[in-house]
Formats: sequence, structure tokens, C-alpha cells
Amino acid sequence: MLHHLPRGGRAAFSFCQGWIRTLALLACAMLATGCATQKPRPARAYTPPTVASGESIFGPSVLTPEQELEALGRNRTTPAMLRRAWLELQLRHPQSALDAAAEVLFGSSKPSTSDAAIARYLRAEAYAQQGMPERGRYDLEQALALAVDPMVVRRLQAIAPTPAEAPPAMDAGIAILPRATWSARAPNRGNMDAMGKVTRVTIHHSAILLRDDRQSACSAQLQVIQRDHMGERGYGDIGYHFLIDPSGRIWQGRDLRWQGAHAKGEHNVGNIGICLLGNFMPGKDGQKPNKEQLQAMERLVVHLLGRFGLQGDDLFCHSHFRNTECPGPLVEPVVARLQRTLQQRSPRVAAAE
Ligand SMILES: [Zn+2]
Repeated sequence: MLHHLPRGGRAAFSFCQGWIRTLALLACAMLATGCATQKPRPARAYTPPTVASGESIFGPSVLTPEQELEALGRNRTTPAMLRRAWLELQLRHPQSALDAAAEVLFGSSKPSTSDAAIARYLRAEAYAQQGMPERGRYDLEQALALAVDPMVVRRLQAIAPTPAEAPPAMDAGIAILPRATWSARAPNRGNMDAMGKVTRVTIHHSAILLRDDRQSACSAQLQVIQRDHMGERGYGDIGYHFLIDPSGRIWQGRDLRWQGAHAKGEHNVGNIGICLLGNFMPGKDGQKPNKEQLQAMERLVVHLLGRFGLQGDDLFCHSHFRNTECPGPLVEPVVARLQRTLQQRSPRVAAAE
């Protein structure tokens, strides 16, 4: 029937058709946004914290921070206010976090020592999030003096400035390019746990082919990895503590004061993650590690084991913890050799400090 229409008529018809399609698409889009903006219902019955401990204030929840804030509603007990401040920090609302912590500290009833420690810690974090960590210095000192809960103490130690203010990664003759060299994004501390005691070191590869070893290319690669980890995967920072490029430069990743995100779940506890940039798989999509890169890995591993009083047995490949080819069949034997060499040395690697 269409081809019986005169020229203009056909144009008018398809114009109409176009509009109908646009309207239909708009309606769909509106429906979809309508769904998206509908408040998701809490999946399970929610019990607000009744005591303030490290676990109840900083622990995970089945709800999103938004859902949990809504569930807390008008609950103004001290544990609820502290949890509220923590959730506001997760959402990067430092002013709301400051308000909630202030209510605990300066509200009608005097807080217990341990509640005050948590509130002071939350204030220090909120000021840091506002870009004014010096304003939170007093809170931090107070919190350090008052805290007893081990989880709170660990978080405090992680953010407390070290007396010498020396960057932790630059010691013992190992040259490490600081985060500023690759314009690292600021981490989101709310998504990280304090490192605690270091007990092991794990080797990875980035699984991304990288033959260009110019500093600019490598630094761009680090930014890509950080963007993926913080964006796609929702980590608090780049997951690895150190990254080594093909020419053997060692780059600082996540600060060692924070637990990494590289070996999944509990395997990250006390585990330093080192990532070799490159894809060390056999075949045309892979690459061989350079001698300089492997030597730098060895230097760094020996240094870290020494610094934390660990042995060859405490060195692992990612594949040890899960079914993965990481760090690649071309690197794994090198790590195994290094493990053996270190085990054969004196029972403990001499402490460097
Ligand atoms: Zn890995």
C-alpha cells in the first residue's frame, strides 16, 4: 500500500512513523527511569546496632548505605548515630557525618570512652574527606588515646601520621615511584580495611599486553587499572600494593597501611599484592617477562619479606589461592625458583630493619 502513496505522502507517513517510534521510546525510557527511581525495599528485616563496636559500626551490611540510612530513620541512639556517620562517609557526605558524630560527642548525654573514640575517628575521616585533614588532627589524637576496640585501633593506626612522615614505600634502598608519579586518584577509605599484620606476599600479572615501557605509557596503564578497580569493581583504590613495569620500575599502588584487593575475600588479609604489568601467557597474545622486570620483582620480594620478618614460604602466586592462571605460566616458574632460593637461605630472611 505504501508505494501507492504520492511522494510527499510517503515522506509524511515515514515522518509520522518516526515520531511514533520516538514517542514509544520515550515512554519506555520514562517507565524505566520510573522503575529505577522507585525506592528499593530492604531485602531483609533490619536490626539497627544496639551497641557501638568496631564490627557493628564499620562492619558490612546486606543493605546499601542508602537503604540502611532510611532504615535507621529517626533512631537517634548512640550506636545508630555512629553507624549513620559511617554510612554518610560511604556516600561521601562528610558534613552529614560530622553532624551525626557531633550529636554523639556534644549531645545531651555524655558518651562512653569507647563511643567517643569512634565518634572522634569518624570526625577525623570526615575532615579528611573534606580535604582538611589538619582540622581532624585533634579528633585523631583523642581517638588514639581513647580507643580499645581492636578494629577501631587498627583503622586509627592506619590513618595516624607516622612520626617521621616518611613515605612507607621508599625505604631500604628500593626505589619506588610514589603515587603522585602516576597521578593516582585519592583512595576511598570507606571501602578499605586496615592491613593489620603482614603475613604473606602474592605475585600477579595485569593480564594486559604491555610492550611499551616508556614511563608515560606505564603510568597511563596504572591509571587504567585503578579506574577499573575503583569504578567497575568498586574497590577503595587500585587493588595491588606494588606494580612493576616491563623495564623494572617499581610503582607504589595501594598504601601498605591498607589491605589490598587482589586475592579475593579472606585471602587479602595480611597479603601484599605485587602486580607485574603484562600478559605472561604463552602464544601470540602473551609476552615474555623482561629480565629487568623479574629482577625488580626479586628485589622487592626480598625487601618486603625482610621488612616484615617473613620467609620464602610466605611468597605465593595468585594461582595458589584460586583457580586462575595468574601470574601466567611464564612467570610462575620464576616465582617458584625464588621461593626455593629463599627457603634454602637461613631459616628466616634477615630482617632489614
Ligand atoms: Zn592475580
